[in-house]
Amino acid sequence: MAIPTEAYLRKIPKKPVRTKSGVTPLTVVLPPRKCNHGTCIYCPGGDYVPQSYTDKSPAVMRALSLGFDVKKQVKSRLDTLIKMGHPTEKIELIIIGGTFLQYPLLYQYDYIKGCYDVLNEKESKTLNEAQKLNETAKHRLVAMCIENRPDNCSIEEIKRMREYGATRVEIGVQILDDEIYKKTARGHTIKDVEEASGRLKDAGFKLGYHIMPGLPYSNIEKDIEKFKVLFDDESFRPDQLKIYPCQIVEDSPLAKMYKRINYKTYTDQEIKKVLTEMMKLIPRYARVMRVMREIPKEKMIGKVASTSIRKDVEDKLKVGNEEIREIRMREIGFNGDGLKLDTKLKIMEYDSSEGKEFFLEIVNSEDILFGLLRLRFPKEAIFPELKDSAVVRELHVYGQALNLHEKGKNSQHMGYGKFLMSEAERISGENGYKKVAVISGVGVREYYKKLGYKLEGTYMTKII
Ligand code: SF4
Repeated sequence: MAIPTEAYLRKIPKKPVRTKSGVTPLTVVLPPRKCNHGTCIYCPGGDYVPQSYTDKSPAVMRALSLGFDVKKQVKSRLDTLIKMGHPTEKIELIIIGGTFLQYPLLYQYDYIKGCYDVLNEKESKTLNEAQKLNETAKHRLVAMCIENRPDNCSIEEIKRMREYGATRVEIGVQILDDEIYKKTARGHTIKDVEEASGRLKDAGFKLGYHIMPGLPYSNIEKDIEKFKVLFDDESFRPDQLKIYPCQIVEDSPLAKMYKRINYKTYTDQEIKKVLTEMMKLIPRYARVMRVMREIPKEKMIGKVASTSIRKDVEDKLKVGNEEIREIRMREIGFNGDGLKLDTKLKIMEYDSSEGKEFFLEIVNSEDILFGLLRLRFPKEAIFPELKDSAVVRELHVYGQALNLHEKGKNSQHMGYGKFLMSEAERISGENGYKKVAVISGVGVREYYKKLGYKLEGTYMTKII
């Protein structure tokens, strides 16, 4: 199959940033609950507001006003998105505010089912039934992200996340340093990060790390040195990053102890320096999802870092002609009009957590990214349905999100997805695999059915 020609790709629509990466995110917030291990010293919340958030962040304020009722949160957010003119047929559900997998099991189940029920506009008897309905619903859940801890990623917990329909997991890593983990009360070790990363990748999840430069007991050199390990050492190599420099937030243990330990947050200049070095180290298969937490000024103690730091750093890197390979800076949705349409397929192969990864990209001659696919030959099959199977961890076609029936105006719905899947099957076949499994959001199962896949366990699989 040849790369689809792009005769009518002329212009990337100027629409809101929120949906420029193809799907519409919808965030729901958990009710306050302290993490089982205690509280990491920089983390606020847990008593009256969800752990690691303050009562001034918009999603938390909405959740608070709705008594943390998840159905009301989904409904309210959906209504707002529709009113604002965003497409709502392809939704990515993002669950934030604590460690979801530590909530009572029944609560987790009802929480997730409630989300599907609202999207389906119909109450189902079971989660399974709700998911079945969602496969063809008006508002399909095409992806789900759960924030988690590295020590909450056992095989049993990963299985549960798959049963909920999760496709992406973000774990708090902060810095790969056991001494700092101890001193900041993280309650886990580097080994936990390593093991969680391997299992999550083998299960096909898209893996995000939260990184925190400027922690107490670290410094600029150490932050950069440890960050380098993230990509040098194949035990880690995440797909995505959120980089949140440490801040002193009211109600956190750090707010009470920072004077005693003589701690100072980084200045804007220091943050820029660390970020600049980090950006240069990020390989082309990783995406920086976000830089800086949006914590309101009145909740901060001491210096408040500027929220425009990412832009300042990126602008400077562009002017300086630095070769930045990170995904977000190369996506078409962020790269304006008049793009060259001379697209080609680029394949990068790398070792990752004792498995083999193939990172397939459709890029033009200026390295602007139109679509990508992550194919993995896992270290081991952690579920029976993945036995002897290559795993597609992500298929993403970039550009403005479109509703399911809309004809492609940019790179979405123009055959890139089909092309990338056929390439994944080809590579798998050439390497002796007879089966491909896709970690598919419930709402994308129909798409894979059309490509010859069928539901097996929680994956879409195909004998090739
Ligand atoms: S694990 Fe996350 S939510 Fe829990 S205390 Fe630590 S930073 Fe806060």
